[in-house]
Amino acid sequence: MDNCLFCKIIKKEIPANVIFENDQILIFEDINPQAKKHLLAIPKKHYKDYLDFSRADEFEGFFSEVADFAKELGDFRLVSNCGERSGQTVFHVHFHLLSDEKLGSFGR
Ligand code: 5GP
Ligand code: ZN
Repeated sequence: MDNCLFCKIIKKEIPANVIFENDQILIFEDINPQAKKHLLAIPKKHYKDYLDFSRADEFEGFFSEVADFAKELGDFRLVSNCGERSGQTVFHVHFHLLSDEKLGSFGR
């Protein structure tokens, strides 16, 4: 989708440190890490948020792939902000994968 930051990262128009990639998925480092390791897992097809993505045929397959990747991380947190009031700032669905340290509680 034009003008979508993460679509531009997928098309390599904007650089990112890519950790894993296949036909459907891209996993790359967050530019502003909130944990020692902070990755973002995204489908390559554009969906605006988790609810939009939840109707996609690739929904289950995506999470199997993310799980296969995440199990190598040790303990981790998987988070998706859905909607502006939750803190979503990029409207291409993404899943934060936080790991590599003892994580505190979160919320406000
Ligand atoms: P949200 O706030 O929508 O849940 O998460 C968006 C995430 O994208 C943030 O954690 C932010 O640091 C990350 N981000 C924003 N711009 C860029 C960028 O240009 N490159 C990368 N790698 N991450 C970005
Ligand atoms: Zn997009």
